[in-house]
Amino acid sequence: MDSNSAPVEMFFFPYVGGGHQIPMIDIARIFAFHGAKSTIITTPKHALSFQNSIKRDQESGLPITITTLQLPNNVDDIANTDMSASPRTDTSMLEGPLKSLLLEKRPDCIVHDVFHRWSASAINSVDIPRIVFNGNGCFARCVQENMGKFKPHEKVGSDYEPFVVPGLPDLVELTRSQLPKFARQGGHPHGKMMRKPDDGNSFGSVINSFYELEPAYVDYFRQDLKNRAWVVGPVSLYNRNVEDKTERGQKTTIDGQHILSFLNSKESNSILYISFGSLAQLAPSQLLEIAHGLEASNKPFIWVVGKIFKNENKNEENWFPIGFEDRIRESKKGLIIRGWAPQLLILEHAAVGGFMTHCGWNSTLEGVCAAVPMITWPITAEQFSNEKLVADVLKIGVKVGSMEWMGSDEPWAAVGRDKVEAAVNRVMGGGEEVAEMRRRAGELGEKAKRAVEEGGSSYMDAHALIQELKSRRKN
Ligand code: UDP
Repeated sequence: MDSNSAPVEMFFFPYVGGGHQIPMIDIARIFAFHGAKSTIITTPKHALSFQNSIKRDQESGLPITITTLQLPNNVDDIANTDMSASPRTDTSMLEGPLKSLLLEKRPDCIVHDVFHRWSASAINSVDIPRIVFNGNGCFARCVQENMGKFKPHEKVGSDYEPFVVPGLPDLVELTRSQLPKFARQGGHPHGKMMRKPDDGNSFGSVINSFYELEPAYVDYFRQDLKNRAWVVGPVSLYNRNVEDKTERGQKTTIDGQHILSFLNSKESNSILYISFGSLAQLAPSQLLEIAHGLEASNKPFIWVVGKIFKNENKNEENWFPIGFEDRIRESKKGLIIRGWAPQLLILEHAAVGGFMTHCGWNSTLEGVCAAVPMITWPITAEQFSNEKLVADVLKIGVKVGSMEWMGSDEPWAAVGRDKVEAAVNRVMGGGEEVAEMRRRAGELGEKAKRAVEEGGSSYMDAHALIQELKSRRKN
């Protein structure tokens, strides 16, 4: 086989945290499905969390492998493998091993996560085409770029006075309270690491989204903001069998059968699924407000209680309202999952009719694929932008009323029980408004599925990137 007919060789270098690692693994699998020789580069321990799905892909004949980088002898790993690694985790000890690997193998390209902050210059130095993955959709990327360019947050009189993000296809309003603290004090609105990460010399970006979800923003991102982008999602749809869905990210902490029998016992569209993603640590006082709001709404729910913020100075172990768990169990009204849930399996079940989400981009897209109206509850990062897309532009969600960008160091109960109850009743209570949202969400869910099928927009974008990489070889 001469070098032109050999399959394109793509490396993927995911970050170590949930919301970034999970979609990048799917992206590597998608490109293998399209015929590229895909190699996922990671550490030995992080490989454990996705090796089963890769093994299944290999058994079905896909050209995909995992290569692990050697860590120094005295180092256990670069971060915890429980999906809790913060975006600030320093991964630079991988620089030397990565460069050596790239020099030895010289792939056609490497897709790297921007949270490996050193990786752009390291990859440039060995002269391998690099493609950026930053986890966001085009809407949020456009908001970020125009916030950085026009700085509208500097022109308002208070943290709660809305401002319009200039230049975008729709009227998009934010408040300064929804930006990180350093932005309120005159810093860059999204911090150094979220600034245009392509540095002008990348080959482009791979984006987990689909054209039909945000066409005006894909076009704006490409044409007005002059980014090269291959939009290849929703990548979660690549998880087609129950094993892939159950083991995605981590093994679930609850028996899948138990969840299914709960779901099967409920009417269609009756259950609210509640999750705040892989990273967020809610304050116990905030969880208490959620519990009260849920109980007052009297609607069935599955609530994934993820990581809980621990304040060393307070004893807040028992934060549920007195008797809450017993009442929920006896009335069979709800299911509480502590730890990791099989989100894709739950969301796609017919009994789930709403999703209370922190608007992490993966969860947002997964909600779109499942065609469920959302209750948007952004907490940090670009989640406030995602909320605007869902609630204001796509009109498939209701805002809970979260106004405060919250750092991980000191969360508090920013949303009270009354707001929780009101939003749950609006989305789960039936009526015209939510029926219309459900109809729109249904249409988008169908479009999402079509995008990844043969001939669909995301399918064609993945194919186009492979073709482009192949054509470079001839030059
Ligand atoms: N996830 C999951 N089970 C959980 C929590 C999260 O499967 O209990 C998955 C979820 O499906 C999504 C990812 O973890 O794919 C979280 O990414 P997202 O961008 O929504 O939020 P982040 O965790 O980055 O804040």
